Amino acid sequence: ALLLDGKVAMISGAASARGIGLATARLFASHGATVAILDLDEGAAIEAATAIGPQHRGYACNVADKDACLQATERAIADFGRIDVLINNAGITQPVKTLEIDPASWDRILDVNLRGVLYLSQAVIPHMQAQGSGSIACMSSVSAQRGGGILGGPHYSAAKAGVLGLAKAMAREFGPSNIRVNCVTPGLIQTDISSGKLSDQQKTEIAASIPLNRLGNAEEVAGAYLFLASNLSAYITGAVIDVNGGMLIH
Ligand code: NAD
Repeated sequence: ALLLDGKVAMISGAASARGIGLATARLFASHGATVAILDLDEGAAIEAATAIGPQHRGYACNVADKDACLQATERAIADFGRIDVLINNAGITQPVKTLEIDPASWDRILDVNLRGVLYLSQAVIPHMQAQGSGSIACMSSVSAQRGGGILGGPHYSAAKAGVLGLAKAMAREFGPSNIRVNCVTPGLIQTDISSGKLSDQQKTEIAASIPLNRLGNAEEVAGAYLFLASNLSAYITGAVIDVNGGMLIH
């Protein structure tokens, strides 16, 4: 059966060709959803959406800009009439150590990864409240749980840990409105976010330390998002789903 038949899903950071967001958009569409792809560049977002099918739409949205979040949401509502699923996926990282984090880098990493989750959720939630239902899934990271150590710096760990707290608080607040809020915490997934930042030898060494003995791929995170978006997870809210091959077992 189609898990998202007739649903409208908005996904941030979903135009990147090898990224988790676009893999999620494709998987959701294959399960009957209509997708709204948000990304920094409007042309790239539109191109990504139309490659999936003519009913899908792309919108420019810098998630760290509250007005941009409100505008993209209004445009999606104008086009589709509702938003059933929000995937707060957009994110950036930076491989630096604590003493190297300058104020601008702190702001940039916190703004996209954490502030962006707040702003886009603030834009979409009123529509979900009016509908009486919604599912939101937010991108955290194993870096939040184990204190980084793979790709992102301490500011990235802090931002992704902040996402866990924000999502859990929203789960509590909006449960009575039948809006569920959950998180995914991926380990090392092969996308462009790590390209050029890890050598092949480093990847081989990391893979050897993971119980499943390999890095993950974007489709495998998309699968967890699909579960959280769909009614398969109807009684799950405030949860954190690890997608890490066993890299961290609690
Ligand atoms: P990616 O770089 O392919 O995708 C990130 C996307 O977000 C890009 O399309 C980019 O244009 C977009 N983006 C960046 N800043 C934005 C902004 N301000 N507003 C809107 N969109 C913006 O990388 P990915 O690996 O697919 O990353 C997706 C998410 O997964 C990120 O939040 C990342 O932190 C998280 N994550 C990735 C891994 C991994 O190993 N790849 C692990 C854990 C978590």
